Amino acid sequence: MATLKADKDPMGQAISDYFHTGKAKKLRVLSSMFDEDEIPVSTLFRSLEEMNDIERKALDAVQGRILDVGAGSGCHTLELQKRGHSVTAIDISPLSVETMRARGVADARLADFYAPECGGPYHTLLMLMNGSGIIGTLQGMERFFRRVDELLSPGGQVLMDSSDLRYVYEDEDGQMDWDPEWGYYGEVDYRMQYGRIKGEPFDWLYVDMETLSQHAGQYGFRTEMLHLGAHYDYLVRITRKNDD
Ligand code: SAH
Repeated sequence: MATLKADKDPMGQAISDYFHTGKAKKLRVLSSMFDEDEIPVSTLFRSLEEMNDIERKALDAVQGRILDVGAGSGCHTLELQKRGHSVTAIDISPLSVETMRARGVADARLADFYAPECGGPYHTLLMLMNGSGIIGTLQGMERFFRRVDELLSPGGQVLMDSSDLRYVYEDEDGQMDWDPEWGYYGEVDYRMQYGRIKGEPFDWLYVDMETLSQHAGQYGFRTEMLHLGAHYDYLVRITRKNDD
């Protein structure tokens, strides 16, 4: 994915409006798989006190130079800057990057995770709010881990959150209402809409810990569960196998 055009950047427009006026229209999330949903725009500006346990643990676990991947309004970057960390924040949304700069993010870059503008190497890649989404689909795992290998300095780590979507399809007896022939149940497609601004559809991966670990292992990485949330969500640390 390259960066977005400003007229096809619904989440960025919502972030920009909220920053400049203190309010925003409805940020709608459309999917071919689920009923329409909504992201309350204020939650994209959450303070440390409003963050969940997974996010707080992740912020406490960072080390060295940090890349905040898909940083949005910059909520995590701003907290880390406050703590004295050196952080580069990237996002493909031009209006989000503009807003991050206006909010005081020292190094905000309009860049795709897969593009050279990310710089590096980094000791920590921070990927929060279903950070595994950027992997796109299970097919994207190889490209993702090769990119992580390029961006991480020796001894570096990825801190990422995700959720096992199994609960969406499980019936009362624990049987899955999902045919594996349809693909992997965590592969979701989304499209965002804000007022009249409609973004392009994109793939967004939710992955269970076991599937993630299998793929990581194939490309020379290991995973460690750092925290299990209350809603099938979790925080994982990914490191190279041969780093110790
Ligand atoms: N981390 C923020 C925002 C999460 S929303 C928070 O927790 O509040 C996901 C963000 O990832 C969006 O701002 C989206 O524009 C960005 N994004 C999606 N794909 C990306 C990619 N390939 N490279 C960089 N950023 C990406």
